[in-house]
Parts: sequence; C-alpha cells; structure tokens
Amino acid sequence: MQNDDAEMALAQERLLAEIAADAASTAFLTGRPRFSQRVYAAMRAVPRHAFVDDWERPLAYLNRPLGIGFGQTISQPYIVALMSDLLDLQPAHRVLEIGTGCGYQAAVLSALCARVYSLEVVPALASSAAARLRALGYANIIVRCGDGFLGWPEEAPFDAVIVTAAPTALPPALAAQLAVGGRIVIPIGPPGGTQVLYRGEKRADGSVHLEGNLPVAFVPMVAGAGG
Ligand code: SAH
Repeated sequence: MQNDDAEMALAQERLLAEIAADAASTAFLTGRPRFSQRVYAAMRAVPRHAFVDDWERPLAYLNRPLGIGFGQTISQPYIVALMSDLLDLQPAHRVLEIGTGCGYQAAVLSALCARVYSLEVVPALASSAAARLRALGYANIIVRCGDGFLGWPEEAPFDAVIVTAAPTALPPALAAQLAVGGRIVIPIGPPGGTQVLYRGEKRADGSVHLEGNLPVAFVPMVAGAGG
C-alpha cells in the first residue's frame, strides 16, 4: 500500500504541475495566469481517487473528467482549480455549490472557506456524496437534495456561489442569494452547445455583471421538483 500511496502522491504532483501549465496557457481567456497557493494546497489535500469508482481510480490523477454514474461527471481537475480560484475565497467565507455530484469540488472548497452548502438534484447522488464526505471527515460541508434553481434561501446570503452544471441563463434566485461583493462562477449555455464559464460580482445596487471567455462543457442544469 505504501507504494500505491507514493505513486498516487507522485501522480498528484504531476497533475498539479499540469494544472499550473494549463493556467498559464489559458490566461488570455481566464485572466488568471496563476492560481493561488491556497487553491493548490486545497487540491493537494483532497484525495480525488476517493471520489470515483474503484475501476476509475487509476485515472483519478489524470487531468480529465470522469464518470460518477447517473450520466453525470466529476469535472476535469484544471476546471475545479480554476473555478475555486475565481471564487477568491477567504477562510471565513460561506459558499453555496449547485451540483454536488460525487462531492469532490465541495471537498476542495471546504479547505478554502468556513462552510460549504451543496445542493444536488439527484437523490441517490446527494445521499452517496453526503455519506462519502462524512466518512472522509469533511465536517464543514452540508449536502442537501434540492433544486439548484431555487438556491438555499434559509442560509443566504452567501459570500460565493459556484454552479457545476450549466443553465441557459443566470438563475435569478442564485443572484439574489449572493451577498453584495460576493462572487459567482457559473457555466452558461445550451445543453451540448457552446457554454462559457462566467464570473460575476454582486454590486451594491444588487446587479450581477457576468464576464467570461473560456469555452467549457458541463452537463445541463435540470429543473428539479420546484424548478
Ligand atoms: N461538482 C461535482 C460535479 C457536478 S456534475 C463534483 O465535484 O463531482 C453536475 C451535477 O449537477 C450533477 O450531479 C447533477 O445531478 C447536478 N444538477 C443538475 N441540475 C441540478 C439542479 N437543478 N440542482 C442541483 N443539482 C443539479
């Protein structure tokens, strides 16, 4: 097992170096040539292999998305790092995530802020992610099964909102639940079509101005019971 651990650690260091190279080469689209050291430390702290099925473990530290069942995917690690960086999180922040999936992005965020509130519309994914995160000891992540289009009004406002499935427009409830000065990172576009990763900040007048250039491919955000 010791060998396995050493190999995983090496594979993870190679992955982090690749993410840094990708960050540099996509900076003309993202505006972020380097991600913060806090983001790299968070990526290093989370064992991605613990979030995927056994048969996909050998692929866990490749810079590619992986299947997590129910037609859903865990994002490419570079995208996870980029989205985490764009949120500009501080240790005291509270974050809302839409699309828990397997819980990997939530785990990375948990190392960067005080509390992560994560909503997942597929009940089986919500319960397995909650169980996995509990087993791995992530005590500051709360997973709830619910419709991300409605957000989590009881816990609003949030310092940051991250959306990991793509709607066709910014859901109004998510803009409303963002604190003034807070950041939202969200892919927007038609299912299977060109989606763009946007970042927005909430202004004092309540408006959210989105900016983005990076083309991305996320699963569609689907309306749940209340959507
Ligand atoms: N962040 C996840 C990957 C997300 S994949 C991870 O790290 O594993 C996108 C997820 O969004 C899927 O699990 C999908 O079921 C979920 N989803 C899609 N529409 C949603 C909605 N309206 N509300 C909440 N979750 C949604």
